[in-house]
Amino acid sequence: MTEDNIDDDWTNYSSAQYGTGENNFEEEEINESQLLNDDLDFYDDNYEISPAPSISGQTHLVRIGCCDFCLGRVGGVSLANKTLKQAGVEIRSEVLKLNPDLENIEKVCPLCEDLFSEIDLIASRLISELKEYEFSRLQLGFQLPNDLLESEEYIRINFGDKRSSNLKQALSSEISMKIRMLLETDVEIVNESPEILALIDCLTLSVKLECRSLYLYTRYCKLERGLPQTKWHCRTCKGRGCEKCDYTGLQYLESVQSLIADPLLEIFSADSHSTHSMGREDIDVRCLGNGRPTVIELKNPKKRNADLDKLTSLVNKSAKGRVEIKQLRNSNKSEVVRVKDAAADKSYHICFKVSNLDEEGNELEINLTDDEIISKISKLHGAELNQRTPKRVSHRRADKIRKRKIIDLFEIKVDGKIIEFKLRAQSGTYIKEMVTSDSGRTTPSVAELLDLTCEVEWLDVIDIHSD
Ligand SMILES: [Zn+2]
Ligand SMILES: [Zn+2]
Repeated sequence: MTEDNIDDDWTNYSSAQYGTGENNFEEEEINESQLLNDDLDFYDDNYEISPAPSISGQTHLVRIGCCDFCLGRVGGVSLANKTLKQAGVEIRSEVLKLNPDLENIEKVCPLCEDLFSEIDLIASRLISELKEYEFSRLQLGFQLPNDLLESEEYIRINFGDKRSSNLKQALSSEISMKIRMLLETDVEIVNESPEILALIDCLTLSVKLECRSLYLYTRYCKLERGLPQTKWHCRTCKGRGCEKCDYTGLQYLESVQSLIADPLLEIFSADSHSTHSMGREDIDVRCLGNGRPTVIELKNPKKRNADLDKLTSLVNKSAKGRVEIKQLRNSNKSEVVRVKDAAADKSYHICFKVSNLDEEGNELEINLTDDEIISKISKLHGAELNQRTPKRVSHRRADKIRKRKIIDLFEIKVDGKIIEFKLRAQSGTYIKEMVTSDSGRTTPSVAELLDLTCEVEWLDVIDIHSD
């Protein structure tokens, strides 16, 4: 081995391992301009770049790898009569005239991670998900990584035009434009109260739809006793289905809810329904007169438009006189709150039987004339009742004393031991207890005033004083 050879070996070794050989200094000098560019990628504030639309800002945006869409979006040019992409292509060609070395930059766009080039794919996925729905108000939501949003904002604010729209706004308007072209119906893209909210996951490019419920308002009359107001799950299986309920999961096969909302399920191709009513009546109580305000909620409806006149008669026909609804009209979620929170007076018609029992439970004669009975009951007109939570609901309500007013009491009729009258009471009055006294828990009461045992025969709601 000659001395020269030894030197060569040493140089190679040194260059590979430590980078301290003379050759390395030469290389660094050659690459100085490249290094300068790399430093710019770190947004060193020492370099003078004024934001787009200045040419230095636009050039910087090209240099760091902005796609045509983002260049058009943040490049500071007018977007009248051109697409983002067209605007971007124009800016790029101006920049390249002055900086031909920036011609073939191939980088992932730091402003959108190339999401704009996936717009067609996202739009077609959206369209195929939306296909089965009827809707006119659509809201788009984007799930984007936070670090992308942060760095996008930094670049846009510092090098782009400050007035330009941010990533989410721009994605939303590009996709909106695409799907408006692809959909046959008119769709409004909204920022609140959508019928459908489409969530676009920008990492997986998957689309998930949230279909908002459809709400219809009506008032129902319940013309038959023995119907619960809402679906009532089987007590044994809690709705899972068992032998006792014939695997229906229901304690009662039918309810006001099922009679008025089941026929709508099919019309709106909805998955399920709820009813939100102004108060409730017991299973054995009818609801007459103007009916009870209620909002029917249809969940995940594929259809939203229907002739509500026809639907009203369809429901009434299928309920066969057991339940009857007034004209259906469109409603919304805030009306649910209004209806549920309303504290409306109610009028009732109640019928009960009186008896005079001794301590052993033997029936004695009643020593009161009809006029005496009527005058004693009349004392309840305008009375304020103290009502301790009734025994029958004490398992689900806190034990406390309510004060409720009897606003009016009229049409008292006595027929032997059968007595009936009508009354108007404040919302939340326990009516049956006002008659029976519920073992002294309600005072005053008819039973207390007559000093007789009172048993309710039937009760009807005859008016709900609202709207
Ligand atoms: Zn981009
Ligand atoms: Zn069951």
